[in-house]
Amino acid sequence: MYIDSHCHINFPDLADKLPEVFDLMRQNQVSHALCISVELERFPDILALAESHPNVYASVGVHPDHEDCSEPSVEQLVALADHPKVVAIGETGLDYFRLTGDLEWQRERFRTHMRAARACRKPLVIHTRSAAEDTLRLMREERAGEPGGVMHCFTESLAVAEAAMEMGFYISFSGIVTFKNAVALREVAAAVPLERMLIETDSPYLAPVPHRGRTNQPGYVMHVAEEIARIKGLAAEEVGEITSQNFFRLFTSAVH
Ligand SMILES: [Zn+2]
Ligand SMILES: [Zn+2]
Repeated sequence: MYIDSHCHINFPDLADKLPEVFDLMRQNQVSHALCISVELERFPDILALAESHPNVYASVGVHPDHEDCSEPSVEQLVALADHPKVVAIGETGLDYFRLTGDLEWQRERFRTHMRAARACRKPLVIHTRSAAEDTLRLMREERAGEPGGVMHCFTESLAVAEAAMEMGFYISFSGIVTFKNAVALREVAAAVPLERMLIETDSPYLAPVPHRGRTNQPGYVMHVAEEIARIKGLAAEEVGEITSQNFFRLFTSAVH
């Protein structure tokens, strides 16, 4: 059993073929998926998916890369998160790779999400790219360790992973860990304890080997588990089992 802790199945590439997406999940023993919000405008679609599929959860938040969308307030996020299938706040964080210039608005938006997560006691889904130092600094300033959460699609150094784990965060690996050139990331994965790890697709992006270049989907998360298993000398099933337990502990506070 595997769980995709971060996907965007509401994006057109996947939303247009959901029956196939769910079929492949079943075939590959992917039991659950967390569908991640990137804009409030698109949140109703995600909530509808979570409400109509028992094995789909939702998050609420606004992605740090999205500029032309409505800016969330703490109150708004807390209100939208007040639903049993909404299990996380995000994705949020900092991205100095995709956007440049004065990004104070991005840091303010990140703070808003962390304040909302503390207020509603739901964990954070954090995206960080070329901004690790500021991400960790803001996490400390806003006491992100109180709600906890996950550093999603992790591509940073072991030092960054350790700093996040010290705050109680989980580290989530995507299909990037299967890429040929991801030698340094595999070393990070070797050092992060399985008990602190989640797996994800970030689909429709970043399809893992052997599907690289195709549209990614939650059913492919087993290939991430297989790679982690190779790195750690374990069976893929064991990686699936432990990361699934981690998922439920973090997002539903109940190990199923
Ligand atoms: Zn992201
Ligand atoms: Zn994402």
